[in-house]
Amino acid sequence: MEYFEFLNKSVTPYHTVEALKTLLETQNGENTRFFERGGALIAIRLPKQICSDSRFRIALAHTDFPTLKITPNPDSSAAGVRTLHPEIYGSPLFTSWLDRDLGYAGLLAYELGGNLETKLIRGDKLFRIPQLAVHLNRGVNQEGLKVNPQTDLNALWTSIGGKERFVDALQSELPAGARLLDFDIQLFDAQPAQFGGFENEWIYSGRLDNLSSCHAIAEAFKNAAPLEKDFTVAAFINNEEVGSETREGAGSNFLKSTLEEILSSFTSQTSERACERPLSSRLAESFALSIDMAHACHPNFVQKHESNHAPVLGGGVVLKVNSQKRYASDVFSNARFKLICEQNNIPYQTFVMRNDMPCGSTVGPAISASLGIPTVDIGEPMLSMHSIREMTDVADHEKMTRLLLAFWK
Ligand SMILES: [Zn+2]
Repeated sequence: MEYFEFLNKSVTPYHTVEALKTLLETQNGENTRFFERGGALIAIRLPKQICSDSRFRIALAHTDFPTLKITPNPDSSAAGVRTLHPEIYGSPLFTSWLDRDLGYAGLLAYELGGNLETKLIRGDKLFRIPQLAVHLNRGVNQEGLKVNPQTDLNALWTSIGGKERFVDALQSELPAGARLLDFDIQLFDAQPAQFGGFENEWIYSGRLDNLSSCHAIAEAFKNAAPLEKDFTVAAFINNEEVGSETREGAGSNFLKSTLEEILSSFTSQTSERACERPLSSRLAESFALSIDMAHACHPNFVQKHESNHAPVLGGGVVLKVNSQKRYASDVFSNARFKLICEQNNIPYQTFVMRNDMPCGSTVGPAISASLGIPTVDIGEPMLSMHSIREMTDVADHEKMTRLLLAFWK
């Protein structure tokens, strides 16, 4: 699957998991295991031989992105049209959602013949949240557009002559005799990913945070050979944008219990005592790359970056460092990351947040703390983070993929 096809298909975390499985399953044999939990997926490639010093080489990325989710009772009508009331998921840049062509997609749960079933859907219609005309909002260009997320983001989905309730539209996706019980539907930017820039050096797409990292990990995982002694682990986890404390998130037991499961299935098969060693002690000597997007310096707002730590588009993989430990990077993991980069001619740049601005975070600290695994926070530089339409550099994606290949060599 091509990169752009992956971006276009991954319109919800559930769709991301499906696209990842398609991408990963194509070239893998019996030495790769998959573990799935809703919008999260873990792929593990077994080493050629397992022994007491077998460790884990883990790359992590989140499958979710900021969005507008359709509420359980979304319907209203006004001014001759029917609208859907959304609830905010994560922290989208509200203004970027206006005047865009919005698709809808997600999971339906229904009852059929007494059984519970689910179905992944992607509607083929386009909705919209129109801006108020400048004539009716004088001063908007001088004062800035303020968006009240409760009142200003209802999506227009059909005219008053159309269907009355959105659930009726969802119901029509189900087989005959099925009864819709619940849904998890979100809106998304329907415009396909495109190259940008005069030399086609950039990528414009929705959801690049963090599909770009998911794709780099999957692409490298697919092309990496089994390691001699170490487990190759690709972990795609959900709900980072809302704090990770969910069944599918980095705060869950998903990764740890999966590693335990794979290790015990192995050690129970072998009688050699040399293989016996607890997970925690293996993890202490393992290494994790927590991969999430990084803020590139914006040419119109260079003062928003710390001047000596301002990554640029096309400048290579970004190492994220924060003394308040919003990132998991530390002196040990940073050095290890730098060595891999240097040995493989992969340029890197370092990000530190300004002291007068709060720093974002990633799944890195949670994973590093709960597993006790040395972890470094890195990512591709990007602009327009959390906009419905983001921007990255082709060359940085290639460097990230190459870094992962080197990590799993
Ligand atoms: Zn992210």
